[in-house]
Amino acid sequence: MTAAILDGKAVAARVRARVAAAAAELRAAGVVPGLAVVLVGDDPASQIYVRAKAKAARDAGVEAFDHKLPASTSQDELLALVARLNVDPAVHAILVQLPVPAQIDARRVLEAIAPAKDVDGFHPENVGLLTVGMPRFVPCTPKGCMLLLEEAGVALRGARALVIGRSNIVGKPMALLLMAADATVTVAHSKTRDLAHECRRADVVVAAIGKAEMVRGDWIQDGAVVIDVGQNRLSDGKLVGDVEYVAARQRARAITPVPGGVGPMTIAMLLDSTIESARRMR
Ligand code: NDP
Repeated sequence: MTAAILDGKAVAARVRARVAAAAAELRAAGVVPGLAVVLVGDDPASQIYVRAKAKAARDAGVEAFDHKLPASTSQDELLALVARLNVDPAVHAILVQLPVPAQIDARRVLEAIAPAKDVDGFHPENVGLLTVGMPRFVPCTPKGCMLLLEEAGVALRGARALVIGRSNIVGKPMALLLMAADATVTVAHSKTRDLAHECRRADVVVAAIGKAEMVRGDWIQDGAVVIDVGQNRLSDGKLVGDVEYVAARQRARAITPVPGGVGPMTIAMLLDSTIESARRMR
């Protein structure tokens, strides 16, 4: 079997077109959807991400407010900016790009963002709402993975789903979303005893590890669906996922490529959540 490719670029383009239409509708009703993007310091990868997020927002008719702060910014200065954005009526969504420099406690900053504007869904209130099955803002990457599964027509009810990784931004919310979709969910992590065995019995594998091609192709069950969240840069500059793509593709029914799978979905879902927020606040 050669797997169908779950084309995140194409799905993301459709989401972005939908966002643009919704933004135009909101503007016609006198509401300009606004996203504040805060970057502290000069981490090169973060600079690329925030530039891409702001550009995608503007292209879709969402106002992007860029806040670039020097690496020497204190925690109090950052908290003061967040407090201003929290009460700014032009801002419907606030995103603080992680990681932040060492003198700043990321947790405190995320907790300072008004939950109603927390489009990343990292505030404990939003985490709690997702956990009790009343989601408000769902973290963008797992939200994008769920849309890819839906678009591919993957039946999750009763399916055995394995999430590899238990981070707050990908693994944990992904497991909650799969559980809410009635999958039988296993969460694996660095202390999992036999990852190959867990993989071999999974109908759906979501890999969010951050280790190049660590999930071997022969661990994938015939006919399984593979969502590869990993983005790993090799020494030759090539970007690869957490799954051994070429070999896994021979066994899976459907698989996301890297690049072009989950990556484009994350920004599209951020814009989608910004529109949701602007609609709620009108
Ligand atoms: P973290 O480093 O926060 O979490 C990685 C997880 O993988 C941890 O739970 C860790 O376990 C687990 N892990 C590490 N080694 C192993 C192992 N040998 N076996 C099983 N599990 C292991 O990463 P993130 O969740 O933030 O990101 C994961 C990947 O996804 C990265 O490549 C990142 O670049 C990518 N990513 C991609 C996005 C996109 O838009 N496409 C967005 C966000 C992330 P433990 O908890 O025990 O340490």
